Amino acid sequence: MVPALPHYLRKNAMSETSTGRRHFASDNYSGVCPEAWDAMARANQGHVPAYGDDEWTAKAADLLRELFEVNCEVFFAFNGTAANALALSAMCQSYHSILCHELAHAETDECGAPEFFSNGSKILVVSGEDGRIQPDSVSHMVQRRCDIHYPKPRVLSLTQATELGTVYTVNDLQALFETARRHDLRVHMDGARFANAVAALGVAPKEITWKVGVDVLCFGGTKNGMAVGEAIIFFKKELAHEFAYRCKQAGQLASKMRFLAAPWVGMLESGAWLRNAAQANRMAEQLELGLQQIPGVEFISRRQANSVFVRLRPEVATALRTRGWRFYTFIGAGGARFMCSWDTAETDVATLIADIRELTSAKSST
Ligand SMILES: *Cc1c(COP(=O)(O)O)cnc(C)c1O
Repeated sequence: MVPALPHYLRKNAMSETSTGRRHFASDNYSGVCPEAWDAMARANQGHVPAYGDDEWTAKAADLLRELFEVNCEVFFAFNGTAANALALSAMCQSYHSILCHELAHAETDECGAPEFFSNGSKILVVSGEDGRIQPDSVSHMVQRRCDIHYPKPRVLSLTQATELGTVYTVNDLQALFETARRHDLRVHMDGARFANAVAALGVAPKEITWKVGVDVLCFGGTKNGMAVGEAIIFFKKELAHEFAYRCKQAGQLASKMRFLAAPWVGMLESGAWLRNAAQANRMAEQLELGLQQIPGVEFISRRQANSVFVRLRPEVATALRTRGWRFYTFIGAGGARFMCSWDTAETDVATLIADIRELTSAKSST
């Protein structure tokens, strides 16, 4: 049997995606926002020291410390998988376990990287409505066993905003932290969409991180409007001990680090990080409002950040794709995810709503 070509090697792979249309598949379908792009251009001057010993990297780390209003250790990685996997591996030993939601990116979308980089720490999944973990499920999973044969629970990993587009409130996080502390768990936060959570909650970043016991945050830049790059932020500084070696060994130490760091400077100084997130959230809200007006559209989870999850009949999903729309249906059982990004515009949302309305009513009237 001839193996299928990877999609990017297939003929017409370019023409499928370069129609100029903005899609709702993921916020990483978007390009680079002007503030990040401009900072890259400004960083592109002459020679500077490599491997992070440059002024852009120092400045980006300082701006992150300012944003979180605390003295923390900051590292930069190329993507979220590496950021999560390396952060988690710094938080536990190989005989420990990491608790996360069954839909968590670390469990479902990282090809075992957290287990690999931690030399075998086991991921234990818990369920929970709307992609959120409840304190009781954490206690249950920890207390299920306490003998030497069970991988000792050591880390609670929370995604903020969650994989189902919901957010943990300050109170939710406080309750989870109480539970984590009771069971001697460290707290990791996958913040690939952290900015969207901040925008949705309208709180200072510290209120949903170190003040509620988050030890390490992976703060996503890519989906927020950068070309590439995530910040790994250690609020519990001792966990960052020798972390630079982990990054280097994993191939995550950028030699021209200024280009990973400069976009953070551009985004943080201009406030674009929060504006971009608020725009994406607002567009998702408009999409939700529009879809609520269409009879028969069923919502899977509550929209709180920048994505909307609905159930679509298979023929409607197919017809939408035929019209050129890209979106994910990995949720199973007719579930479709529509994700807004920093550059999603009202016209994109209106066009999508119109297409869904037309296709839904056309089919259901037969
Ligand atoms: C996108 C995403 C990541 C990072 O994914 P990469 O493709 O490795 O950059 C991590 N966590 C969540 C919840 C995500 O959605």
